[in-house]
Amino acid sequence: MFIENFKVESPNVKYSEDEIQSVYNYETTELVHENRNGSYQWIVKPKTVKYEFKTNTRVPKLGVMLVGWGGNNGSTLTGGVIANREGISWATKDKIQQANYFGSLTQASAIRVGSFQGEEIYAPFKSLLPMVNPDDIVFGGWDISKMNLADAMGRAKVFDIDLQKQLRPYMESMVPLPGIYDQDFIAANQEARADNIIKGTKKEQIQQIIKDIKEFKEQNKVDRVVVLWTANTERYSNVVVGLNDTMENLMASVDKNESEISPSTLYAIACVMENVPFINGSPQNTFVPGLLFSTLVLIGGDDFKSGQTKMKSVLVDFLVGAGIKPTSIVSYNHLGNNDGMNLSAPQTFRSKEISKSNVVDDMVNSNAILYEPGEHPDHVVVIKYVPYVGDSKRAMDEYTSEIFMGGKNTIVLHNTCEDSLLAAPIILDLVLLAELSTRIQFKSEAEGKFHSFHPVATILSYLTKAPLVPPGTPVVNALSKQRAMLENIMRACVGLAPENNMILEYK
Ligand code: NAD
Repeated sequence: MFIENFKVESPNVKYSEDEIQSVYNYETTELVHENRNGSYQWIVKPKTVKYEFKTNTRVPKLGVMLVGWGGNNGSTLTGGVIANREGISWATKDKIQQANYFGSLTQASAIRVGSFQGEEIYAPFKSLLPMVNPDDIVFGGWDISKMNLADAMGRAKVFDIDLQKQLRPYMESMVPLPGIYDQDFIAANQEARADNIIKGTKKEQIQQIIKDIKEFKEQNKVDRVVVLWTANTERYSNVVVGLNDTMENLMASVDKNESEISPSTLYAIACVMENVPFINGSPQNTFVPGLLFSTLVLIGGDDFKSGQTKMKSVLVDFLVGAGIKPTSIVSYNHLGNNDGMNLSAPQTFRSKEISKSNVVDDMVNSNAILYEPGEHPDHVVVIKYVPYVGDSKRAMDEYTSEIFMGGKNTIVLHNTCEDSLLAAPIILDLVLLAELSTRIQFKSEAEGKFHSFHPVATILSYLTKAPLVPPGTPVVNALSKQRAMLENIMRACVGLAPENNMILEYK
């Protein structure tokens, strides 16, 4: 059975006019490695840590500014939200299609609430905590191409033509603000579309971005803004001591107009200065150490986890979890959109290769029965640009594993899908969850006062290929663990225990 919403009644949770307060007992373990009776042993001691959470339930009017607004993802997300908001339906060769938010964790997935008279009861994921309704988001942003969003949607060739015709009137007047362009950071083949550029020094460019954010906020009367990079993948910038290793050095380098400070880092600096969350949806190292180590503003990334990597973080988790040993993982992609064209340059491809490569590390490292220390499956990623297939990306994967008694198992996957239709709902989730997480505060019993989550938002890792984590924090790539982490933290905010799947009532 499916219920639309629910309220928790418990001594551990208190709903007031603008806050939910909860007390949560975090069941964890403490490990000690001790000499007991002459030999070292691992001792595991269960322990309970009491936490308190408080969630501000006043949902703000949210503005989302996309860097790369006129790209395939930007135009697809904007059109998709308008279509949902306006209740648009359109004729395809199969049926009359209604707008929906399929593919969005917050809008189209469910959580299990419990059992009622022998039936499992589910509710929308978004019913856990008050969240911004995507229909109410105001979109804006920057693009180095000045094409309006209606034409950009046509250029993207993602939506059916009947839908495009209905969306055009809403999107014609949406024109991206000029963006920061540096041809050294993206492929040379992007130069032709760069007709909408902020001039000036790097410092002046940052000031312009700050001004744009302030004006967008004022003009649209939004309470909060989240900025998200969905522009072209950049090459990695060099990390150099004295250049970008500390915030001080980074700002000094901006003042000196140092060429190695990338456009994406400049946008991120502007957001940090303006106290606006910044999420990086591409693989490059926007968050150079100077930013990563000192920001107090929410940052999240890197690179949307949409298709091939999502499958990988499910499949390898399943194989290693089943005691099967993946020994070779080979991933081929071809795509024909502008992202594919940009990735055909070796430097930008390298950024993607890096972010796609580390996604099995935590699963491999978790099982020393299968892998010797330092042993790793062969893992190769190939991306080719094939214009004819447009946004309809092909991903082909071959997983070879060793099974019982020296046997070999080969699994081959072929995945075809419009890339932007996978990415758009992920962008939506990223901005909605980023906003939500800024309204949550918590403290453990050892801590005196409430604080926010660490500014490096690991809570978003379900949605990113190479989750950005604070220094010294383990990276979790396995998709089911990432989802459980997010769901269970949200459950804790309303005083619910983590979903343990034990279903003891029926055992
Ligand atoms: P796209 O090329 O269609 O759109 C990118 C837009 O960014 C373009 O309109 C371009 O003009 C603009 N742009 C480039 N540099 C800019 C800058 N410095 N400032 C402002 N605008 C700038 O690409 P897309 O398909 O929308 O993908 C966007 C990004 O998302 C890519 O980096 C891609 O690798 C990443 N990504 C996409 C997916 C997916 O499934 N679609 C998954 C993971 C990551």
